[in-house]
Amino acid sequence: MQISPTISLSQIPSLLFPPKSPSIQPLHKIQLPCPSPNISTDNIQRPSAIKRSGLLSTIDRAIQEEEEQRRARREEVNEKGVEIEGHVIQGFSVGGLETCVVVPTLNAAFGIGRCTSTAVHQDFLFVTDAHVDHIGGLPLYVATRHLCGLKPPTVFVPPCIKEDVENLFDIHRALSQKELNLDLVALNVGETYEMRNDLVVRPFKTHHVIPSQGYVIYKVRNKVNVEYTNLKGNQIKELKLSGVEITDTTLSPEVAFTGDTMSDFILDPRNEDVLRAKVLITEATFLDEELDIKHARQLGHTHLFEILEHAERIHNKALLLTHFSSRYKLEDIRQAVAMLQTKLSTKVVALTKGFKSMYK
Ligand SMILES: [Zn+2]
Repeated sequence: MQISPTISLSQIPSLLFPPKSPSIQPLHKIQLPCPSPNISTDNIQRPSAIKRSGLLSTIDRAIQEEEEQRRARREEVNEKGVEIEGHVIQGFSVGGLETCVVVPTLNAAFGIGRCTSTAVHQDFLFVTDAHVDHIGGLPLYVATRHLCGLKPPTVFVPPCIKEDVENLFDIHRALSQKELNLDLVALNVGETYEMRNDLVVRPFKTHHVIPSQGYVIYKVRNKVNVEYTNLKGNQIKELKLSGVEITDTTLSPEVAFTGDTMSDFILDPRNEDVLRAKVLITEATFLDEELDIKHARQLGHTHLFEILEHAERIHNKALLLTHFSSRYKLEDIRQAVAMLQTKLSTKVVALTKGFKSMYK
């Protein structure tokens, strides 16, 4: 990290001996390794080049560390959710451990690796694949909703796993001797399901090591057909009453969620809507050369370098990256996002809840 604020010598005394009620965080909160409390300002100002440079570099280091700690604290605040294009997106996604991304504005949760309190309140759950870190919290999600007096949820799954999910619930019903009610929907790629009159969902093909699919949620817009736009209000009303269809319905892709996948979904021409949805939530499990693209593909995941490679295909307003490997720290993720941002006009954001700073 290249942060080296310039400090003039006249600032040093106040940095070492801050005023009693400082408006900024005092440096004594950081473990300054060297300055002795007995150092007087006389000593500091004495023309000794060696002493001064040592002290300055110590202060520089301390300031740099404090800045990093502040950044880490800001990241912590961001854990409450990220605001993107009118959606506050909450939850977490740590590669191999647990994924549950919640978009309350769409009444939707994507993945249920762990059942969070926010996820419980979403009526729609989208399962992308059956790895435990993406589906392990499903029975608890259904049971908790019942306990909270919420209606049975609608749970979307790839059709090939529907039967196994039904069997899973049969086992849980037998074990708990309780009814576990849900509307389990096997929705195939290309099919459309109406979530409410202004929202529909369509699954799309993704490429993981087990069967998988992503989901695009569209906003439904009804616009008066151009041939009727010059009519007055009462004329439109009359036409409507006479049974003439005066509106055109358009679907605009709002949020796309891939779940675990290799980058191949970016190259699939059928996934055009995924790459032009307002917000694309996708994965970048690996970020650097230590674990390269080959490694990512072997595990059925995307490497950040592949997103970089296909940057010109991404037309979303915002890209929310998730599912980083737990080997990474916040600073690694931030650096990777900054690097990707230089190549994309799309705003790049990372979902970092669950990741630690190297300064904590
Ligand atoms: Zn995963």
